[in-house]
Amino acid sequence: MKKIGILGFQGAIIEHERQIKAIGHEPVIVKYPEQLEEIDGIILPGGESTTMGKILNRTGLMEPLRGKIQSGLPVWGTCAGMILLAKELVNDSVTHLGVMDIAVRRNAYGSQIDSFATKKVIPAVDSKEIELVFIRAPYITSVKDGVKILCELDGHIVAAEEKNMLVTSFHPELTDNTAFLKYFVSKI
Ligand code: GLN
Repeated sequence: MKKIGILGFQGAIIEHERQIKAIGHEPVIVKYPEQLEEIDGIILPGGESTTMGKILNRTGLMEPLRGKIQSGLPVWGTCAGMILLAKELVNDSVTHLGVMDIAVRRNAYGSQIDSFATKKVIPAVDSKEIELVFIRAPYITSVKDGVKILCELDGHIVAAEEKNMLVTSFHPELTDNTAFLKYFVSKI
């Protein structure tokens, strides 16, 4: 059984917690730097990246979390979590953890009412179709060498990985499908 952290300040925390339990692992809601020592991987949930970035700084978790990721802690950023991990935000002057070699456009599909769901096979993850839920989602506009693209939708990159880092524009935790979570756990 793996201990899987979920950054616990804001956003879709209980949804990830539910899926982690459903596949037999132990969720840990992470709010303090000490907790980084007890987990095998961490999920940065969807929510609001500006708010999460501010709280990460205010609580002193930003630096230790960045250090852990840089030294190999497996991390999966969903939606706002993708924004937190990106080295470049094409429509924002601030970056947050800034560890993954991707450039990301925030709110790339428009505002809340432009949220949508679709289905797609992501071969690296599962041979069956996965429901992809986009909520005020970002997408990746470019990647550097070393980043593997896992899924594109209408010509935009919506899932990718680089070393110990995995990102998705969409929210698998809002569906009953645990294939993406299992894929993340397989990398731990
Ligand atoms: N638009 C949000 C942001 O910029 C992300 C939306 C989400 O995580 N569902 O932080």
